[in-house]
Amino acid sequence: MNAPLSPFLPFTRPSIDEETIAAVADVLRSGWITTGPRCSELEAALSARYGGRPVRLASSATAALGIALRVAGIGAGDEVITTPLSWVATANVVLEVGATPVFVDVDAATRNIDLEQAAAAVTPRTRALLPVDLAGLPVDRDRLHALAARHGLRVIEDAAQSMGARWRAREIGSFGDLVSFSFHPNKNMTSIEGGCLVMNDEAEARRFEKLRLQGVTRHADGGMDVDVLGGKSNLTDVAAAVGLGQLRHLDAFNARRHQLARRYFERFPRALGFELPVADFEQSNWHMFQPLLPAGSDRGRFIEAMRAEGIGVGVHYPALHLFTLYRARGHREGQFPHAEDIGRRTVTLPLFPAMADADVDRVCAALERVLRRGGA
Ligand SMILES: *Cc1c(COP(=O)(O)O)cnc(C)c1O
Repeated sequence: MNAPLSPFLPFTRPSIDEETIAAVADVLRSGWITTGPRCSELEAALSARYGGRPVRLASSATAALGIALRVAGIGAGDEVITTPLSWVATANVVLEVGATPVFVDVDAATRNIDLEQAAAAVTPRTRALLPVDLAGLPVDRDRLHALAARHGLRVIEDAAQSMGARWRAREIGSFGDLVSFSFHPNKNMTSIEGGCLVMNDEAEARRFEKLRLQGVTRHADGGMDVDVLGGKSNLTDVAAAVGLGQLRHLDAFNARRHQLARRYFERFPRALGFELPVADFEQSNWHMFQPLLPAGSDRGRFIEAMRAEGIGVGVHYPALHLFTLYRARGHREGQFPHAEDIGRRTVTLPLFPAMADADVDRVCAALERVLRRGGA
């Protein structure tokens, strides 16, 4: 008889407990299922986590980032310096408000925005820096905020991947300017879809609320006014109930991610020629574990061969300035060599809190088999 096949191991999977499922059922039975008390509770819990800074929810991090740009007053004619190695939302939101994303290359080791190149890219039109903590490894916040202060720029942190990560022992979100997190199911905690923005003061929070829902300001007498064009980006209480259930476990989830990442470093078959990520166990939240394939590998064949081994592999991300939309804006191959090289060779291996240590060993053994028989 054949040994039972191990179940397919995806590159990520959310952990939703029964308590959360029951809390969702409670919302569905309550008679109020869209934005309401659960959203307020989640906003308060997040605000408490970030030292009392105001936090407002949105239907996605994309929506939260777009509103953040508008809260910062960024629009047509403005430039925002950002990274080409991110989920395309990072740059799309800049275009959406009519501003220009100005890309600079990433640092080859951290894979995050190269702040020296960012400094060199500042022009009189630059209004903001939009850094991304790729895979949860934080951008150097000391240098980032020093650069912003030197030129009077806003900082809009796309911290979609770095919830629970730290910079010099301070949690990302608890300091800085505007900080956005994502609760997409692939992130370190989820509300199915959803995101939030951490802000500086209540005036910004009120502006966020207005832009989140049609530009509406409500009056005490039941009337209302609309003085600015807002969108429709509110979160539902069903989603917030999931988020509340997740937030309770975030620190435990991240601790487990650290253990699994450590095991990857211990067990990784180094002779295969992969380039491993920075081994940061102080600051990163280990949102993803992403080795770079050996130069000259065929990533498509590698992903197929790993799938045949029962293991899911993701790609986060191809350099976004080479997408058709951005090429049409004048971007081209060779502009950002580090981002392009990483974007071609990066693979996301399975890493999520419910994984067993043996799953890491299984991935490493599969890598060995696949590379040795030339499957990449
Ligand atoms: C996931 C992600 C986003 C977008 O988050 P959504 O909640 O899906 O809108 C933006 N930037 C980065 C870096 C991300 O990883």
